[in-house]
Amino acid sequence: MSFDRDRLPDPVGYFEGEGLRLQGRGTWRTTSCPFHGGGDSMRINVSTGAWVCMNCHARGGDVVAFHMQRHGLDFVAAAKALGAWVEDGKPAPTRPRAFSAADAIAVLSKDLHLCAIVLSAARRGVLPTDADWRAFLAAAGRCITIAEATR
Ligand SMILES: [Zn+2]
Repeated sequence: MSFDRDRLPDPVGYFEGEGLRLQGRGTWRTTSCPFHGGGDSMRINVSTGAWVCMNCHARGGDVVAFHMQRHGLDFVAAAKALGAWVEDGKPAPTRPRAFSAADAIAVLSKDLHLCAIVLSAARRGVLPTDADWRAFLAAAGRCITIAEATR
């Protein structure tokens, strides 16, 4: 199961379907706020679906956030209601575990091995292919990233 943002409804169609009348032109439109009942204090970004009430300060980044808040739903329920939850047979996403010291050593070991192969070949006069050179640079970059992250 996973969230597919591309399946979210178009913001204009969604908010009109929620009974809001969008006024104005351009990216940000004005409408009534269903959260405090105000007449024209809600601004809606018709490109991203972001919304904010200038009066009661209810706000959210997309139509999912609006649907959650207006209908009292959690994220998955709102995503399902909006047709953006895909049942693909995989388990629901869980938080990734922390990157441990053992993980770091495993990455560094593999990257050091890759760099040693490229440099050993270069010492024999064999220049790396473009793909091997990119892999070498990526490996060196990962080593630097890990070193900086552990400071
Ligand atoms: Zn409001």
